[in-house]
Amino acid sequence: MKYIPKNIDAEISLYKSILESTKAVPWKVDWVTKGLLYLGPQIEDLLGWPHDSWATVEDWTSKIHARDKKRVLDFYSAESLAMAQDHQIDYRLHKMDSDYVWVHEVVHVVREAGGQIASLMGFMFDISEAKKTEQDVLKLQKQLQEFSFKDGLTGVSNRRMFDTVMEDEWLQAQRNHQPLSLIMLDIDQFKQYNDCYGHVQGDDTLKRIAAVLNNACTRSRDFFARYGGEEFALILPETDSKSAIKMAERCRNLIFKEQVAHAQSTVSQILTISIGVDTIIPHHEDDSLNFIEQVDKLLYQAKEDGRNRIAMKVTSRKA
Ligand code: GH3
Ligand code: MG
Ligand code: MG
Repeated sequence: MKYIPKNIDAEISLYKSILESTKAVPWKVDWVTKGLLYLGPQIEDLLGWPHDSWATVEDWTSKIHARDKKRVLDFYSAESLAMAQDHQIDYRLHKMDSDYVWVHEVVHVVREAGGQIASLMGFMFDISEAKKTEQDVLKLQKQLQEFSFKDGLTGVSNRRMFDTVMEDEWLQAQRNHQPLSLIMLDIDQFKQYNDCYGHVQGDDTLKRIAAVLNNACTRSRDFFARYGGEEFALILPETDSKSAIKMAERCRNLIFKEQVAHAQSTVSQILTISIGVDTIIPHHEDDSLNFIEQVDKLLYQAKEDGRNRIAMKVTSRKA
């Protein structure tokens, strides 16, 4: 037996009050005329434009954020809706005060008996708060990632970043048969520096040296990092042995120009650095860790030979 409501006006009023008392904005559009058959009055609270200013689909499309427009219109195209029953999409709508809100829209496709689309109806939810939280989390994640590759004291790249860049550049040099140079630099008698001037000044000097050496990089792919303690490293892709040695000399001169007093140094009265430098065109059987160890050995050699100097391999693989 068919249900016949006792008081149809009361029923309509009940449904309308349910529809219009929630924050979600209900709507219905005629697919053929593109006229708005119904739009909840909550739209005024959501976007600011008066409820009676909404008449057609055009009133809605004109308010879609430029960055989302193509995606949203594609979503609402006949082809996209052809097979659809229920759909959902997130996008931004401009408010009257020129700001925008993120909305989540759930859409139901109403069809004729023959399957043609008759109308669309749905609900629009304000998800701005959730989107803001999502964007804050993404920003925080990006910041954390940046911090995890940065040295806390000097602000230059850290050892972790060095390992990543070295691996990438090694593979690229291997693939393209290009020379790859590595410079390792270590401050001379820094322990005595700390003993003489204290750790706080030691930290300041480390920051200053890191900044100077970081600025020595001229090409965009040159990469500088704090390798650890008072030791730094410079990766120079596509750089032959001659240019790498020039760069090492430049680093030593830049530190010399700083004229940082180091009264306890037995090398000089100013702060100096020792440097190891080498170049390789890596072949498939070569290992980047061996190459780093070689350069580290050269640095040790520079220390052994009296510090404040550059050590390079005499019988270097020609690159
Ligand atoms: P060498 O000429 O052989 O390199 O001697 P060195 O004293 O520089 O080297 P050593 O390895 O004996 O000591 C390194 C010193 O660097 C000791 C350590 O306290 C200092 N150092 C390492 N990291 C930091 C830091 O972050 N801040 C300060 N202030 N000192 C640091
Ligand atoms: Mg040292
Ligand atoms: Mg050291």
